[in-house]
Amino acid sequence: MTRTNFRDELVHVSALQEYVYCPRRYYYQRYHDQIATPYELVDGRSKHAAQSRRGGWTRERYFRSDTLGLHGKIDLVESDRGSLTPIERKRAESGDYYPSDEVQIAAYCLLLEEAIGEPVNVGYIYLYSTDERHAIHITEEHRDAVSKIVSRIQSMSVDSIPPFTDNPNKCNGCSAREYCMPAETAQLEPERAQGTGWEDHA
Ligand code: SF4
Repeated sequence: MTRTNFRDELVHVSALQEYVYCPRRYYYQRYHDQIATPYELVDGRSKHAAQSRRGGWTRERYFRSDTLGLHGKIDLVESDRGSLTPIERKRAESGDYYPSDEVQIAAYCLLLEEAIGEPVNVGYIYLYSTDERHAIHITEEHRDAVSKIVSRIQSMSVDSIPPFTDNPNKCNGCSAREYCMPAETAQLEPERAQGTGWEDHA
């Protein structure tokens, strides 16, 4: 049976990233069973599987926190002169990372610092496409963003569908598009597409 909301449940870190990309897509992923797994996620998993057969890193460490309302598995944890830093690897064909990736690494930093009882103010995003890693300095804004998104996800309910994204470019290739139908809605119910960028398609 589909649960109607997330209250009192831990939110998986990957859900934060999905929510930042588009709350509506996250809604469909949460409440509908038939949405195809995005290619990037599948590809990322296969790369992770390949990496995990090599040696040398502390990898795939699971953390959970009732205080943060979060749980998730950190891809890699780097240890350097006594400090621990989470690393998240991305396929990133664009050659760059996104705000949603920053939220994800911030959430891992928060989970890690609660687990070890010490501040973790830096995480790394490694991009396969450029073979570079980027240091993300975790700010109060990152911390607030994680907390707010966890609250929003926990208060979601099946009978309240989030609005369309305000960036229609995100809809290209979106795995939930056949359920969401932004173009069709803009044509049939243009008032529901106001302020989304899809009103131009009416
Ligand atoms: S089609 Fe666009 S608005 Fe609809 S869920 Fe996907 S990204 Fe969001």
